[in-house]
Order: sequence, then C-alpha cells, then structure tokens
Amino acid sequence: MKLDSPLIKFSGVYKKYSARLEKLGIRKIEDFLYHIPSRYENFSLVSDIKNIQPGETVTVRGRIVKIENNFLKGGKKLQKALISDGTATIEGIWFNQPYLLRIIKKGDDISVSGKVTYFNKPVIQIQEYELGKTADSSFIHTGRLIPIYPETQGISSKWIRRQVFNILSKKEKLIEYLPDSIIKNEDLMEINSTIEQIHFPISLENAEKARMRLMFDELFLLSLSVLSRKKELENREFKTKFLISKYNKQIESFLTSLPFELTDAQKRVVSEITSDLSLQKPMNRLLEGEVGSGKTVVAAIAMYISYLNGYQSALMAPTEILANQHFKTIESLLSSYGIKVKLTTSSVKLKDSFDILVGTHSMLYGNINFKNLGLVVIDEQHRFGVRQRALIREKGLNPHVLTMTATPIPRTIALTLYGDLDLSLLDQVPKERKRIKTWLVPVEKREDAYKWIRSRVKSNKDQVFIICPFIEESESIETVKAAKKEYEKLKESVFSDLKLGLLHGKLKSEEKNKVLDLFKKGETQILVATPVVEVGIDVRSATIMLIEGAERFGLAQLHQLRGRVGRGDKQSYCLLFTESDSQKTLERLKSMERIFFGPELAEIDLKLRGPGEIYGTLQHGRTPLKIASFSDFELIEKTKKEALKIFPKLSDYKLLKEKVTDLVKKDIAPD
Ligand code: ADP
Ligand code: MG
Repeated sequence: MKLDSPLIKFSGVYKKYSARLEKLGIRKIEDFLYHIPSRYENFSLVSDIKNIQPGETVTVRGRIVKIENNFLKGGKKLQKALISDGTATIEGIWFNQPYLLRIIKKGDDISVSGKVTYFNKPVIQIQEYELGKTADSSFIHTGRLIPIYPETQGISSKWIRRQVFNILSKKEKLIEYLPDSIIKNEDLMEINSTIEQIHFPISLENAEKARMRLMFDELFLLSLSVLSRKKELENREFKTKFLISKYNKQIESFLTSLPFELTDAQKRVVSEITSDLSLQKPMNRLLEGEVGSGKTVVAAIAMYISYLNGYQSALMAPTEILANQHFKTIESLLSSYGIKVKLTTSSVKLKDSFDILVGTHSMLYGNINFKNLGLVVIDEQHRFGVRQRALIREKGLNPHVLTMTATPIPRTIALTLYGDLDLSLLDQVPKERKRIKTWLVPVEKREDAYKWIRSRVKSNKDQVFIICPFIEESESIETVKAAKKEYEKLKESVFSDLKLGLLHGKLKSEEKNKVLDLFKKGETQILVATPVVEVGIDVRSATIMLIEGAERFGLAQLHQLRGRVGRGDKQSYCLLFTESDSQKTLERLKSMERIFFGPELAEIDLKLRGPGEIYGTLQHGRTPLKIASFSDFELIEKTKKEALKIFPKLSDYKLLKEKVTDLVKKDIAPD
C-alpha cells in the first residue's frame, strides 16, 4: 500500500467511498494518516469482570455466554449479552442495534468498552466492541485510548479508525523532513512516532506532544511557503521603474481637482503605493479598508501614475455590476486627462485600444492583448486574489499588483497567511460621514432604550432596524420563529403605536421586496430582521440599529451590521442589547463603543474567541489551518523565526523543500 496512491485507483470500498472521503480531504492513502482525531475516548482500563465498579469506564474481555433481543416500551429494542471472563460474568447492553445478533454469536471471543452502571447488578453499556482478538496489540477499538475522528455521512469514526490502523501496521516508514536542529531546539516528536501517537496514543500526554509537532509543522510550512512566494516575486525584475517626482505636478493637480481632500489614511496609503511603484520590482500590496473608506480613488491615483509612465492598467471587479460602477467612477476621474478608459465584461466586448481597462476577472481568461501592462488592481470585496495573481503571472506578465479588500482580516492573520504581500490599511473613513454612536445597553436600561427609540421615531422621523440573532448556526426555522416572536411582542406591547415590518431569509423574494419597500418609503418605521440584513441592504433613511443577543455575534459581524445605518446625512446610532453578565463578554462588546475599524475588531475576536469567527468572514474557500490556530500567537512567532533561519538553506533539505513547493502550488490552484 503506497502512501501516495490515490484512492480512486483502488477497487472496492476505497473507490466506492472516494467521493465521501474527499469531503474529509482524504484523496490518497497518506491523507488517512493526516486525518487528525478531534478527541479520544479513554477505554484503556482493562478489568477483570469480578473487579468492576459501577461508574467506571472499562474494557472487558471474555466470551459470549448468551445474546438476545429484548423489547422495550415504544417498540425500541435492547440487545443483551452475557459475557464471562472466567472471574465472573457481566451483562452488556446495546440500544437499538438488532442486527448485532447476526454478527455476534454465543461462544465468540469479544472485547467490549463502555460505562458501567448499576441496575440491581452491574451492567456495561457498550460503546465499542470487537470480536475474536487475542493479542493485546491487535485491538483497535477497545482497551486503549481510541481516536474519534471528524466524520461525514456514511463514513464513521470506527471505519476510519480501522483504515488508519491497517495503514499504520503496513506502511513504509515515513522519512523525517524537519531538520534535526529544529527537532532538538523545539523538543519535537519524530515524525513516525508523531503519526502513531496522534492516532493510537499510549497516553494523553503523548497525544498532546504529537499534536504539538503537527501544529508546529503546519505553521512552519505555511511560513516557508510564504517566504518562498515572496522570494519568487522579488526575483522578478520589473522592466522599468515608474518615475514619480518627474510627474509631481500632474499628480498634484489631479489631487486638487478631486471634489474632496484625501483623508490622512488615504495620503499614507498613496505614499506607500508610490514608493512601491518607484522600485525595480513589482509591487504586491494588499489594501485593506472598510466599505466606504475610499479605496477606488487610491487605485485611480496609482493607475494615473502608470499612465503617466506610458503603461496600461487593468482594474478587475468580482461582478459586472461592480465593474460598471468602477468604470463610471474611473472614467469620470481620469478621462478628462486624455486617458482612454474602456470597459470589458462578458456582455461588453472590447473593441478599441485602451490605457485603462476596467472589467470582471474574466478579462484574464479572454485573449485581450495587453501591450504594456504596468499595473493590475484587483478589487476583491470578499474573495482573495491569489488565483488572479497566479493567472497574471502565468500569462508571463509581470505588472505591479494592488489587491483591495473590504474583508476585515486581522493583521496577525494577514501577516501570517499573506506575508508575501505588503499590507496597507485604510483605517479611517472620510470626515463628513458621521461616526455611528454605539452603546452597550444593560438589561436594566432596556425600557429606557425603547422609550428613547420611540421618541426619536416620533420627533425625528428616525427609522430602526432590530436584529434578532441566529438561534442555530444559520437562518433555521428556529431562528425565524424567534424573530417572529420578537416581532409580535414588540408590535403588541412595546411599539404598539408604531408600524413594524418583519424580514427574514425564509420569505419569498417578492414578499421580501414588499417588506423592504414599505420600510424604504417610511411606511413602516421599525424593521425586525434576522441577520440577513447584513448582506447588501441599503436604506439610507435608517439611522438606528438595535441588535438583540449581541453576545452571540462576532465583533466583525456586529460591525458589518452596524454599517447598515449611517448611510445618509443624519447622525446614526447602534444599540447593543445583551442579557449576558459575564465580565469578559461585556468588555468584548464594549469595544464596539470605541473601535470603528473592522480588522481591529476582528483581531480582538481572534484573541478572545479564536479563529472560528474569522473563517466565517474570510469566505476563503478553504480552511488554511487544520489543527494549528491563528490565535496561537506564540507558536506563530516561533515557527516564523525557525522558518526564517532555515529558508536560505532550504535546498539542502530536499523533502522539506518538496513539501513547501507543494503548498505553494496548492495555494494557486483553482478553488
Ligand atoms: P470603497 O473603499 O468602499 O471602495 P469608495 O472608493 O467607493 O469606497 O468610496 C466611497 C465614497 O467616498 C465615494 O463616493 C467616494 O467618492 C467618496 N470618497 C472617497 N474618498 C473621500 C474623501 N477623502 N473625502 C470624501 N469622500 C471621499
Ligand atoms: Mg469599492
């Protein structure tokens, strides 16, 4: 059984299950070994039957004296076996598995693990069993710490366990790929023991040590792959430097022609970009900034500089609508300077020559003849431009690349995951937009808050969102029910004198539009909604955002919800309601009162709640880390340091280098 054999090459069960296994990320034999248990069940106490104590979780080995089905009230079945090991007998039971009587027969040798309870006499509730084993080392599911794996439909933990056990007992030895020095310095477990101990540990301490090793490897390899992408970029010579100071006058007059003054953050970012552009290597910069922070004009300035230097630029947006919007903006900003701005999407074909081409990502797949491409701007919104960057490189082009995103990626993640990019932050929105006043409202102030809202609605014609949290993970029936209930309650007792609407994801789109329309027209004043409003609802007259159960949201998500108000000229407000009295939760939520920059809030979540929250907002398509965590700052630092040390000598470590190359390739593969 070769470790790199793909499962589809096998006949039988591996082939049959290959699609299901793929869901778990298992494509080849080796992947079973890297399918890491999420926890262990401790069945390592093997006991003579006569010594068994109620309350213990034990393993018992003996012979089946009797096995039968018993019927319970309600049609359920109980399977009862009498097991004897020569010291005594004990009753073992299963629930609702009548087929077991076809598998387990009187006289069979059996090993069972489970918890001992007491019904007149000790009874063992069997969690795992296996038949006909004699040698201690050949037990897989009982009498040891047994691994529990992430499962998927039709693939049980028990089945995976057996595969891993078989592979481990047959496999060729793995070859250690970490340098000896690192293993010694960091006191890491050797790779073969690591894989054995992560699956079938002799103690929990050993399992933990194996886990440490795997987490180390994951972050270490990630760091090396980032370094190697970075180096690859640095080795690319850009044809010529852009001249900046030569064109200072033109740039200045472009800036003064703008209808506004750049914010300090914009000025800082522009200077970061111009200094990149003036180097003899391609820029590779990530510009992270809120929706509305003014990224487009920053991109326009960079494209203008490219034009002045005699180069074409391309601006790519994820959708046609956005491409159209960008086209209009860029055209209005730049066409008066004699710059040819053109649009291309799947419905608008390019006919003429251009200086600046605006379009969807599809422009990379067509046969557009870039003559002298100096700068590519990728407006990402959510998804990340790794793939686009790779495609640009594949075309043999070597332009400056600016990627823009509104996703609140915390700085620590950005630096670890995208460390090959330079990072610019637009952490300020233009002055005239008023900051949304935000308050955390304690339980005892709830009535006052309602009173205040009513008076705002009546005297100031304010409109209000009231957001109910997801009860389960997403827009489930339960969530909708809870929102309906809240809506009824508010309508009847709290705001009986006002008009309310209800919006949730289970409404048909016609109904949804109707509800929204009434709200937009001001015919309803309060819109009770599930967090579906997070995505793209724009009601300029809404000025108050009330969020129920705020503790259930991540801060970055609360921030996105808050962004639904404050779109018009009026002062807007965000009220966070919580029933929580945990000091930690209250402090976390309080940071919403003083921080108004998404990535910073995301960073706080990362520290306090771990990275789960972030993956949700990243929508990255793949989880970059399987076992290590982005909130393990200490390990991240350690692995970065070791990676920096090893990187210059990487070619001395052939296997390690291969692993890094694989990772780099995987990263640019289509997602
Ligand atoms: P985003 O970062 O979401 O792409 P945009 O570039 O679309 O934001 O800018 C949002 C709006 O803010 C636009 O109407 C733009 O003209 C305006 N804007 C950009 N910079 C400034 C500024 N410094 N002062 C005032 N308004 C600005
Ligand atoms: Mg934008």
